[in-house]
Formats: sequence, C-alpha cells, structure tokens
Amino acid sequence: MVVKYVCGEHIDDIMDDLINEYETFPIMEECEDKQCEYCNNKSKYLVKITDD
Ligand SMILES: [Zn+2]
Repeated sequence: MVVKYVCGEHIDDIMDDLINEYETFPIMEECEDKQCEYCNNKSKYLVKITDD
C-alpha cells in the first residue's frame, strides 16, 4: 500500500502523480498531523493506494 501526505495546495499534484504512476484512483482522507510531500506545510490530507 502507498500512503502520501499533502497540504491543501498540493492535493491536485499528488492525485495527478499517483494516477499517472499507478493508473488507479487514490483514496483521499483528512489527516492533519503529518508533513506535506511537496513542501514544509502541515498535511491536510492523506492519499492512499491499496493493492487489492
Ligand atoms: Zn504542500
């Protein structure tokens, strides 16, 4: 399973990247205590891709 954390500004970027890489639609949930994958801001979402 792949899990990424992103802030509100980068949610579109991570969705595009994951869809391109895994060719499936990620699951998005709120998650506010991690660091964004793309910048130093606190995350607003986690985005995950499950194997099954
Ligand atoms: Zn960010």
